[in-house]
Amino acid sequence: MDTKKVKMLINGCFVDSATSHWEDIPNPATQEILAKVPYSTAGEIEEAVAAASQAFKSWKNTPIPMRARIMLRLQELIRKNLDQLADSVTAELGKTHPDAKGDVFRGLEVVEHACGIASLQMGGYVENVASRVDTYTILQPLGVCAGITPFNFPGMIPLWMYPMAIACGNTFVLKPSELDPITPVKIAELAQEAGLPDGVLNIVHGGKDTVNALCDHPDIKAISFVGSAPVGTLVYNRASGNGKRAQCMMAANNHGIVLADANKEYTLNALIGACFGASAQRCMAIHTLVLVGKANEWLPEFVEKAKTLKVGPGWEKDTDMGPMIRPAAKERVTGYIEQGIAQGAKLELDGRVVSVQGYEKGNFIGPTIFSNVTPEMSIYREEIFGPVLSVVNVNTLDEAIAFTNNNPFGNGTAIFTSSGVAAHQFQNEIDVGQVGINLPIPVPLPFFSFTGSRGSKLGDLGPYGKQAVEFYTQTKTVTARWPKETTVPGEVNTAITLK
Ligand code: NAD
Repeated sequence: MDTKKVKMLINGCFVDSATSHWEDIPNPATQEILAKVPYSTAGEIEEAVAAASQAFKSWKNTPIPMRARIMLRLQELIRKNLDQLADSVTAELGKTHPDAKGDVFRGLEVVEHACGIASLQMGGYVENVASRVDTYTILQPLGVCAGITPFNFPGMIPLWMYPMAIACGNTFVLKPSELDPITPVKIAELAQEAGLPDGVLNIVHGGKDTVNALCDHPDIKAISFVGSAPVGTLVYNRASGNGKRAQCMMAANNHGIVLADANKEYTLNALIGACFGASAQRCMAIHTLVLVGKANEWLPEFVEKAKTLKVGPGWEKDTDMGPMIRPAAKERVTGYIEQGIAQGAKLELDGRVVSVQGYEKGNFIGPTIFSNVTPEMSIYREEIFGPVLSVVNVNTLDEAIAFTNNNPFGNGTAIFTSSGVAAHQFQNEIDVGQVGINLPIPVPLPFFSFTGSRGSKLGDLGPYGKQAVEFYTQTKTVTARWPKETTVPGEVNTAITLK
């Protein structure tokens, strides 16, 4: 049987690539080939950008309520198809079905927010800044924007980008992760069905070469990237070096801080989900647990709870953790476990021993916990992006804050405590962009913005929310005088002051 080909979207048509470079997309729990993805040719990328440039001419002047209505229809279509889209995420990425639904749902929330674009894209107006002079600002779309997305949220992260960009009046070229592009293309089918004019949204595929072509293209005005830190840095430098606006959301090492006055049962359950959910293939997963003082005594119970997690294919009802995306990702994780042992950390729980009956070919790895971790160890310094947790013990909250602030990444963190005083100190002194208080994965909803900081982000503005409106628009300020015959100044004014 012919393997299904993932389509590109160019000028309103879902088309096959003419490329000779195709890669298989295996189901990570079985290795069954689901489809193959093309690496778009230079000519196809050019066609996609040309279609977006052409479409921008009329889309930018399409009345804002009409743009909002398309978003309203899109949110309805995504909602109707939520289950099928989650099936697709589970098949190509491996997440459990409820988590896959969450992946699409958190993207859907951005589309819902984009429905209110008219009030979000409102400018400002000040009357009488001088005699009969008014000043007002208009937020105008930039033109063609492009988005480059990672594998770990094929539903949510493309939806972080193009709904807001398009609602603001831009046109868009999306380059989804080559590891799981099936779901983004399915959602784009819904966007077309919702009524997007041809060329407003386009999709090309591939890896480095496709990304470089987008970063270099003179007609692309802004690049939004989410992915690893080394790639994000390259993309940021290349795109901004070419004079484009760029925002790059990147890697993380998120610390969960536990004080002994926290509600123990609630805290341990929340942390298990945050440390091992989605097999920790989340940029907001907790990678390091900082147990303060007597909270260190909770470690054995935490390890026992982690042992109860069921590893298996994402479509089985009682599965807690699905597989890693590819065999290479699993090998990377096992390599880090070996390094942790060699560098002297204490292996409290070894995920390498997991085997899943009936799915022996799956890229499974169970929860893994190291204690006695020190900051020099590679398992702490580097982003593992798998279910390997580092545990450290400190004596005071001050030490926990200093330890966390010493890490170069600033994506997310969470404190567990019943003390408002401690929580307030933490929120004030911690140098991390997204802070949870008794909440382990504090990803803001779309009326705010994603605000990772320091080594986790390049560019000032985050995706979605208010910051996305700023990112995807140019502010134009108009200062206008409508002089009345009787009030026209009767003299030349050579000073800079308005009269
Ligand atoms: P990745 O960096 O390997 O890939 C991201 C995108 O970049 C993909 O579309 C890929 O095709 C492209 N790419 C890969 N190599 C490239 C190169 N040399 N030049 C140009 N483009 C290239 O990331 P990934 O493995 O898909 O995703 C996991 C990473 O994403 C983790 O580091 C995770 O922390 C990060 N992430 C961050 C956030 C956030 O909001 N901060 C969210 C999700 C994921």
